[in-house]
Amino acid sequence: MGKCGAKPAEAKETDPCAPPTVAPTAAESGQPDSLAWFNKMVEHNLAYAREEKARGRRLVGIACEYAPRELILAADAMPVCLCGGFEQMIPPAERVLPANLCPLVKSTFGFHLEKANPFLEMADLIVAETTCDAKKKMFELMAESRPIHLLELPQKPDEPDAIERWTVEFRKLQRVLEDRFGVRITEDRLREETRRMNRERQLRRELAALMKADDPPLTGREVLDMKSLIACIPADLDQYEAALKELPGRRVNPPTTERVRVLLTGVPLPHGAERVMDLIEGHGGLVVCQETCTGLKPILEDVDPKAPDIVAALAEKYLRLPCSVMTPNERRMESLRRLAAEYRAQCVIELVWQACLTYDVEAHRVRRLVTEELGLPYLRIETGYSPSDSARIAVRVQALYETARYRPAKGPA
Ligand code: SF4
Ligand code: SF4
Repeated sequence: MGKCGAKPAEAKETDPCAPPTVAPTAAESGQPDSLAWFNKMVEHNLAYAREEKARGRRLVGIACEYAPRELILAADAMPVCLCGGFEQMIPPAERVLPANLCPLVKSTFGFHLEKANPFLEMADLIVAETTCDAKKKMFELMAESRPIHLLELPQKPDEPDAIERWTVEFRKLQRVLEDRFGVRITEDRLREETRRMNRERQLRRELAALMKADDPPLTGREVLDMKSLIACIPADLDQYEAALKELPGRRVNPPTTERVRVLLTGVPLPHGAERVMDLIEGHGGLVVCQETCTGLKPILEDVDPKAPDIVAALAEKYLRLPCSVMTPNERRMESLRRLAAEYRAQCVIELVWQACLTYDVEAHRVRRLVTEELGLPYLRIETGYSPSDSARIAVRVQALYETARYRPAKGPA
């Protein structure tokens, strides 16, 4: 999932994502312009969306990294992430949805009921998907009052016919976009948008790779913040390039060398739901790698813009995304092995949103991989958007760091 959900105006005063007791970071010499730019991401995205809408461009909401942004861009529309990250939107959602549901789904639905997400209110279409049951059934309710197209995701990605069925879903989406918006998605345009998305993915990969350094010039929270709700905004691409020039050599305080290197895996952290990241980094950790949908997971692979069948090539890339809804999900284990080594993680923290069954069950496999095969300390944090358990989480991450610091030297097997 990209960075999600605009903050409702009334959320400011009781922001549940306020920083923990220890400030996560401060640059020694002010904040680089590129970081300052992404600190105002929602404002920039809103201004961009309004301007583009005013000149007739459509806006398409998405809520998952399986939604192909390239197809939406090729229909001359803007793909915008709608995932809710704010606790304030949960009580309204619980008037309709069961309380025992993932907070991300509830928050997204709360924004819908309250009409509090300006991007959702501007959306001409929502591209939904059958990933987890919670989202699938939530979309069914949302479809009662909003235009929704549902992608049916094959969940056994290695079955020979999975890619065929997923490619058919992409071709259906292409027709829906064309019919609804009265445009034709040409092959040339689709290849062009594939190149643009590749560029955005590559720039974000390069920024994330700065965390491989012994003394990374960023915190994990800053890496998390360096993205947009809307894909491929030209000014964002310029800022990524500027960041790659101005960030190397930057010093962060407290120094990144003094912190425990953490690989964060599990559920996405949409905009507003960064509390756990701040707790991890506010108590002696540095998230050097994010194996999540708001981190590296969706940007690790590109699409060949010259592929003979560009729609099939896109479908193949997206189907390879190792979300826990897939079974078996061997690709996630492969990715974790590789990333733990590349980013020299000293421990792994797995975040599971309450009631997210697929990530929760898969946590067992991840724990086994991390502790038995990679020989690293592992911590599973199951939580929601409420800060009520922040103190307990802080104690647990500090204990993990003690173990990571003093464990006998043993690299990945
Ligand atoms: S974790 Fe799974 S369901 Fe959530 S955004 Fe990623 S791919 Fe979609
Ligand atoms: S975090 Fe889990 S339950 Fe929540 S939307 Fe994602 S896959 Fe579904």
